[in-house]
Amino acid sequence: MFVPKRAFIDEEALDYPHGRKILRRLKQQGETDITVMPSGGRVTSIPGSTPGDAYRQGKMSLVVRVLGRMDFPTCRPSADYALPITTGCPGSCEYCYLITQFGRKPYLTVYANVDEILDRAAQYAAQSSQNITTFEGAASSDPVPTERYSGALESAIEHFSDRSDSRFRFVTKFDDIEPLLSLQHSRHTLFRFSINTEKVCRDFERGTPAVKHRLKAAARVSDADYPLGFVIAPVLLTSSWRRDYRALLESVVETVGDTPVSFEIISHRFTDAALRKIRQIFPDSDLPLQKSRRMRRTGRYGHGKYVYPPERLADVRSFFEQSVGDLFSGASVDYVV
Ligand code: SF4
Repeated sequence: MFVPKRAFIDEEALDYPHGRKILRRLKQQGETDITVMPSGGRVTSIPGSTPGDAYRQGKMSLVVRVLGRMDFPTCRPSADYALPITTGCPGSCEYCYLITQFGRKPYLTVYANVDEILDRAAQYAAQSSQNITTFEGAASSDPVPTERYSGALESAIEHFSDRSDSRFRFVTKFDDIEPLLSLQHSRHTLFRFSINTEKVCRDFERGTPAVKHRLKAAARVSDADYPLGFVIAPVLLTSSWRRDYRALLESVVETVGDTPVSFEIISHRFTDAALRKIRQIFPDSDLPLQKSRRMRRTGRYGHGKYVYPPERLADVRSFFEQSVGDLFSGASVDYVV
């Protein structure tokens, strides 16, 4: 359970009933130092002199703001648009795709104007030429740890439950999902868990529940009749990767049986900026980051990233498509990248 050490609340957030509710919840919990900041103020008082300490202290800090810019970035391949309901995550996985996103002190942010954000999503869907527009609620966060304060997932799930032109999805590594199970969702929210092999979780994940707890939570989500999915990311091609990922898929089958589930498979990649940051924050990390074993590809924003070469990615694709086909009766592999 995420209990922030400190919270900074933009005073404008308290103009919103939702912002006042977040403040009430933080006060009730009673273990967080709360500071109300002038509107638009910068967060400057998170401690941390070394990169590692600054990173850890940031992850213990929560900011409550009003989201100003309502431009939603696209979010391929998982959805049409990212839905910015929260940012950041209290976990500290060494491979985290967010490691370069939030500066030296990567505090978490939740928004007081979640209803305005959802109204904006409705406009995006109404203006789209597609019959169904999809929104990703975890593009720049794991939204579950802050849910007990933000209520953002609850608002989003109930909003999309009523919409015929749009769908919602999010992914988490956390298992504190009980309050979401009784919500009205109309099967319009795809509830996904991010999982990985025992070895990858043991060696590179920090501050996240064990996979067996995520799988137990997944079974409860399925019992609550949500569409269920799994994101397997990052796929790391260790010497035993086939055996390890097969064992992972078998443990999913044991937990969810014949439930139709979807899989999204994301192979490991990193940028120069991520490499520098990982070396600063996790100097003893054993993450495989040898550029010589990867292929450099230019990403969407022009920066280089190091990915597995095409023949290895083809191996990954055929392995997962075949294994999922062997083990599951109604599962789909939505994409392998
Ligand atoms: S749980 Fe996900 S978002 Fe959080 S640190 Fe780990 S990889 Fe990053």
